[in-house]
Amino acid sequence: MFGKKKTSIVKMLPKLKGEIREHELLAKHTWFGVGGPAEVMFFPADNDDLREFVRNKPHNLPVFVIGSGSNLLVRDGGIPGVVIKLSSKFYRQWQMDGDKLICGAGMKNAELKKIMTENNIGGLEFLVSIPGSLGGAIKTNAGCFGRELKDVLAGATVINEEGEELEVSADDFNFGYRCSFFPEGWIVTSMTLKVVPQDAQETLRIIEEQKQYRLKSQPINAKTAGSTFKNPEGLRAWELIKNTKSNELKVGGAAVSDKHCNFLINTGDASAEDIENLGESIIKKVKDETSIVLEWEVKRVGIKK
Ligand SMILES: Cc1cc2nc3c(=O)[nH]c(=O)nc-3n(C[C@H](O)[C@H](O)[C@H](O)COP(=O)(O)OP(=O)(O)OC[C@H]3O[C@@H](n4cnc5c(N)ncnc54)[C@H](O)[C@@H]3O)c2cc1C
Repeated sequence: MFGKKKTSIVKMLPKLKGEIREHELLAKHTWFGVGGPAEVMFFPADNDDLREFVRNKPHNLPVFVIGSGSNLLVRDGGIPGVVIKLSSKFYRQWQMDGDKLICGAGMKNAELKKIMTENNIGGLEFLVSIPGSLGGAIKTNAGCFGRELKDVLAGATVINEEGEELEVSADDFNFGYRCSFFPEGWIVTSMTLKVVPQDAQETLRIIEEQKQYRLKSQPINAKTAGSTFKNPEGLRAWELIKNTKSNELKVGGAAVSDKHCNFLINTGDASAEDIENLGESIIKKVKDETSIVLEWEVKRVGIKK
């Protein structure tokens, strides 16, 4: 593994202001609570720092951006290369600009609650109940309760593979259902969201209603990464799992949630391998019994141990 390599890639990196951690355990950065180490983890101080990294890192050094890790299954062997996390203060800043809200990509969706109520604005309530950061919400076109990120995005700032800062429009992300397609190497650093004037009490009411719905129907306090499989066209993944009794399968510490059949959970001591093997066993059972092949919605990254 990375530890056995003779040359640390840290020595090959330019001089940076942000924090660098070698062999940082990614289990600490994922909702599943699993995942091996990042060979190097970099927490840029600001955009100048991030640009310096992108422009002067060794060519072909693999780079992966992590948000809050709420849609990721990081494998037990970890992620080679550099994992970037935009969690410094710079990436959690926000400001109002007329009827728009400009936010750093490292801001947690949940932080929008305070901003909306303190400024008597609304329109982003659905995002508050989705775990994760705004950067992750763009990549996954996060959505629920009939709305998705693309409905509220006016534009964003990204740093591209050449280290240039670009202003891009919402259309440039090519949003689809729970996904977006933008050039490999783009790192979203901030975004402009459309908001509407709204009384704080009304915002709180909507957020509370959505929270109660989630509490009843999803294991939001468990170690999970949300919906595991995409709904096949015209069908529901959870129904296929339930009807085939695949929800009764278990692998090591990985199980299917009692509250929602499409949520896999780490019951305590699961490895990433347990969770991935459980997912694959479900895919096989559903296919054997219905011919339908479920596709992973959770993004699996990194290498096996
Ligand atoms: C209990 C639970 C409930 C959930 N419910 C929902 C739901 O209702 N609706 C829904 O849509 N999702 C839901 N999810 C899934 C998840 O919360 C969303 O997909 C979320 O948007 C992921 O954000 P994140 O910051 O955690 O991203 P991560 O999981 O860390 O990363 C997801 C992807 O985004 C990329 N990424 C992250 N930041 C950036 C950036 N700055 N620039 C470029 N790429 C970036 C990563 O490389 C990765 O490809 C749920 C998850 C859980 C655990």
